[in-house]
Amino acid sequence: MRLQNYIDGQLQPPSAGRFIDVFEPATGSIFAACPDSDAGDIENAFNAAHRAFPTWSALPSAERARFLNRIADLIETRLDEFAAAESRDSGKPVSLARSLDIPRAIANLRFFAAAATQFSSEAHTESGSLNYTLREPIGVVGCISPWNLPLYLFTWKIAPALAVGNTLLAKPSEVTPLTATMFAQVCVDAQLPAGVLNIVHGTGTRTGSALIEHGGIKAISFTGSTRTGAAIAAVAAKTFKKVSLEMGGKNPTLIFADWDATDANWSTILRSAFANQGQICLCGSRILVERSIYSAFRDEFVARARKLRVGDPNDALNDLGAIVSKTHFDKIMACIAVARKEGGNILCGGDAIKVDGRCADGWFIAPTIIEGLDQQCATNQDEIFGPVVTLQPFDDEDQAVEQANATNYGLAASVWTTHLARGHRVVSKLASGIVWVNCWMRRDLRTPFGGVKQSGLGREGGVEALRFFTEAKNVCIQID
Ligand code: NAD
Repeated sequence: MRLQNYIDGQLQPPSAGRFIDVFEPATGSIFAACPDSDAGDIENAFNAAHRAFPTWSALPSAERARFLNRIADLIETRLDEFAAAESRDSGKPVSLARSLDIPRAIANLRFFAAAATQFSSEAHTESGSLNYTLREPIGVVGCISPWNLPLYLFTWKIAPALAVGNTLLAKPSEVTPLTATMFAQVCVDAQLPAGVLNIVHGTGTRTGSALIEHGGIKAISFTGSTRTGAAIAAVAAKTFKKVSLEMGGKNPTLIFADWDATDANWSTILRSAFANQGQICLCGSRILVERSIYSAFRDEFVARARKLRVGDPNDALNDLGAIVSKTHFDKIMACIAVARKEGGNILCGGDAIKVDGRCADGWFIAPTIIEGLDQQCATNQDEIFGPVVTLQPFDDEDQAVEQANATNYGLAASVWTTHLARGHRVVSKLASGIVWVNCWMRRDLRTPFGGVKQSGLGREGGVEALRFFTEAKNVCIQID
């Protein structure tokens, strides 16, 4: 399967004819070739986006919304096909792609289609002057997305950018390019005007770099690792591009002795640790437990984790599928080796899993729980981004907060307590962009989404995204 770029309304190969292999993580085999586009393709895409901008930005927001809704409708009619492709490309269970990834991609498009029609700006009057603020589209913008939630995060960026009138270049992850390619075909079917959206595939070093270095691109919305985010920020600074960076995490889950240990809550805790093989930026990878219940919690958590089924993503009975790539599999296994070296006690997992049949050569890792490590060690400081969590006890609220905040990251946290005042108190002290209390990954698309410290710069979601993708112009009129 030779995937293609989508530039100026046309599906087309990369101009230099360079392709990279795309693997199916569950089988370890190559199943597609992804364009490795270069600066020439980026230039072509930019020119197309630049030409499309005046007409697209002048459309009433309801007209732009009609295109986004049409695209959403077409994806919905092909939900199973999209879910199967997402699972094949990323290794995630097809059930997860069908219940989370693709429905959320559809919701992103519909949400921002509607949100842009409701977007408004401010007016101020004072001492004989009237100020009103226009929110105008920026121009040609760039969106760069990662492999863990491929279509979900791709649409989370492009929908608000398009809805408010920008035209854009989008670069999906080269590790999981399949659903973005299918998305391009849907745009053709929906008769999205040529050049409004250009999907340029390729590696970060070649395609991504050319995109962020392009002088005509005014803003970059990026989701990925902190290391790449830092590189993008450095390049963007030279050309004064606006940037939004959503990056890594090392999220704490705080369990107080009075938490409500129902089956439903246990299953949320397990999901927060291991969903998508732990490859969700919001996963809680450091579980902090009040000492009085530590042993009981640990034993129950380990018993439940042992029951999770790992294997063929096509099997609806499996909870975890494959790790996204051999490189990432090796990285996670190396992190587990470091944890052992640091003196960690592996309570369950810690090994690769061999699956029979068609998945014999796939990249699978057992849910892994480690205890006995202090907060300062590499295992508790560095993002692993796999099915690996640590357990640490704490004695009181202050220590829980101190441990929770003791990393360079600050994306998300979850707090489990039935004590209302404690919940509020702890939330107010956590250095985190997102905090869930007695739940995890409940998402209302109107809310600000993003992290503090090395987890992020800026916010996505709702009006925050619409503001990011517009430029404010204030107009002051003397009225007395
Ligand atoms: P990554 O940084 O390696 O790649 C992300 C994207 O950036 C890819 O499209 C890649 O090709 C591109 N890229 C890489 N180098 C580039 C460069 N020099 N210039 C321009 N583009 C470049 O991240 P990944 O491994 O794909 O994703 C996993 C990471 O993403 C984890 O750290 C995870 O926490 C993070 N993540 C964060 C969020 C969030 O909302 N904060 C959400 C999902 C994933």
